[in-house]
Amino acid sequence: MSTAVNNEKENAAATNGAAAATNGAATATNGAAAATNGAAEDKSAKRRPIRRIPRKKVCAFCVEKVDEINYKDVSRLKKFITEKGKIIPRRMSGTCARHQRQLAQSIKRARVMALIPFIGE
Ligand SMILES: [Zn+2]
Repeated sequence: MSTAVNNEKENAAATNGAAAATNGAATATNGAAAATNGAAEDKSAKRRPIRRIPRKKVCAFCVEKVDEINYKDVSRLKKFITEKGKIIPRRMSGTCARHQRQLAQSIKRARVMALIPFIGE
């Protein structure tokens, strides 16, 4: 009876030893994981994940209920070109697809009519 108990104890000890060994291995891999984690953290720290929430932009032409954009309306067109004379993209101005197409066409027409410069300062 007592020997059986002893045997059980021995078995438990043996399995414990094995468990300890595997634990050792686990900690070793953990160490590696920690090392890689550290590298990942360094990268993210460099990238700066701070992003401001973009405000919903509305199409200026839809707000004013402009049906057709006229190329002769220079003061309006000038708001949608950069200092260099480039057409401001939709993602920046918030103009809707329909009005951006009209706007681009009108700006190009205005350029040909020399109302707007092809190249700014
Ligand atoms: Zn629009």
